[in-house]
Amino acid sequence: MTIGLWILGDQLSHQHAVLTNLSPATPIILIESLAHVRVRPYHQQKLVLVWSAMRHFAQTLQAQGWPVTYAEAEEFRSPLLAWIEAQQITELRVMAPIDKPFAQQLATLELPCPITIVPNNQFLWSAEEFTQWAKSRKRLLMEDFYRASRKRFNVLMDAGGQPIGGSWNFDKENRKPPKKNDPTFQPPAPLWFEPDDLTQTVMQKVRDLDCPTYGRLDRFGWAVTRSQAQQVLAHFITTRLATFGPYEDAMVTGQDTLWHSLLSPYLNLGLLHPIEVVQAIEDAFHEQQDLPFNSVEGMIRQVMGWREYMRGVYVYSAENYGYSNWFGHQQPLPDFFWNASQAPMNCLRQCLDQTERLGYAHHIQRLMVLNNFTLIAGIAPQEIEQWFHAAYIDAYDWVMQTNVIGMGQYADGGMLASKPYAASANYINKMSDYCKGCQFNPKVRVGEKACPFNFLYWDFLDRHRKKLAQQGRMSFILANLDKMPETELEEIRQLARTWQHG
Ligand code: FAD
Ligand code: SF4
Repeated sequence: MTIGLWILGDQLSHQHAVLTNLSPATPIILIESLAHVRVRPYHQQKLVLVWSAMRHFAQTLQAQGWPVTYAEAEEFRSPLLAWIEAQQITELRVMAPIDKPFAQQLATLELPCPITIVPNNQFLWSAEEFTQWAKSRKRLLMEDFYRASRKRFNVLMDAGGQPIGGSWNFDKENRKPPKKNDPTFQPPAPLWFEPDDLTQTVMQKVRDLDCPTYGRLDRFGWAVTRSQAQQVLAHFITTRLATFGPYEDAMVTGQDTLWHSLLSPYLNLGLLHPIEVVQAIEDAFHEQQDLPFNSVEGMIRQVMGWREYMRGVYVYSAENYGYSNWFGHQQPLPDFFWNASQAPMNCLRQCLDQTERLGYAHHIQRLMVLNNFTLIAGIAPQEIEQWFHAAYIDAYDWVMQTNVIGMGQYADGGMLASKPYAASANYINKMSDYCKGCQFNPKVRVGEKACPFNFLYWDFLDRHRKKLAQQGRMSFILANLDKMPETELEEIRQLARTWQHG
């Protein structure tokens, strides 16, 4: 009997659940599939990241003595068949894919030997453990899950089993607006890497692709090996973590990454495991007494709270979750999402431009600018989900469904978020410097200079008043809508219709 191991592109983990239990004589295959890339116009840097990281991972395994086959093919089946025959493989082992569409593809793959699926170990909570936790609850509150996670892994807990600092959540200290006119408000430069020969070969392959892609590839600096990803983690802890918390929600022109960690691409590929990120941050907190606790707790909340929770809800949700459309939104995605220079609003232009250059925008840019806009403009959730999936360096099905369909678009009717993340220009004006470079006025809601975030926001509330009234947390804002003079509301409706159809 000969076992063979197929390592998927987002399973580049040194703790891979199958790899760690096999002898180094086991044949291994990794496959670059072009058909997989044709599904949507992916960001060119995403393709380089995944393929280069796969090639580097294969090289590392080869150097350790594993017999590795690396295939570049149109689809997965042909190279698998050739390899199974050449290596006389009688059982194929695969670690369970995280994404449901790929799991379905695997389930229908016809091969001459049986496929054994081994549970995925790239998260802190296994699929079964999250399901157990979720089954006993009426509402899947992230805060409850986060507390359970802190207790379960004994992270930032004192000897008496209580949260260090006396509270679970220091979020209220983490919403500072940027210091807009202060030249000392300067985040440290991110750690980027020069592409080596292997990465440059992949960059050329991506440039030569005959299918549509998105974004720019004039520069590429992402980490493509575990060792580089570990350096990014260490660099984050020494240069960024202390200030991460307070300015987590801030947005500043020309400062693409602020104090964010840039770790999501590496966590999502398996180059880093969430437990090592959490432990490294907790260790730094205990070793360096001057690290602000709100930053430490804020970062741990992101990784062992939000990230695990989003994946858990993805596993737990129904197969048709991705088709949810609670508001019944049907507008098409504006073309400028694919071409930042055409975006009429400065906030959108800045976030889209940065996404084209890097495949990256931080959480608040994704949520409160791009998603907020598409929500209040009534764009179909599945269109915006497709765009996010194509555009971001760290995008995968598991992270799209919950973040875009659930959190961003509220298309699941509140399974995940307690109210829609809809906001007028006030929020963007407070948390960024974008409005000062814009043709619109963030303080105006009707007339020529009216900011589209304003009239689209009030029109959104007006259009969905009945549905929103069912959400307790919306009553205050709906009361403000009721106080608005009918003439102004009518003008708002007109502006919104013109904008949507013009
Ligand atoms: P930091 O701000 O430094 O956060 C630290 C880490 O926490 C991240 O690296 C990430 O691993 C984790 N994290 C925090 N929040 C989430 C979350 N809601 N879901 C998953 N992980 C989280 N994250 C992705 O990994 N891929 C995506 O495609 C993606 N799309 C998103 C789309 C929308 C509309 C929204 C609102 C959020 C999305 N996120 C996504 C979550 C989050 O925005 C990114 O993880 C984060 O911006 C990545 O940058 P960072 O590593 O610098 O994050
Ligand atoms: Fe965006 Fe409105 Fe501010 Fe312009 S004025 S940047 S459209 S929020």
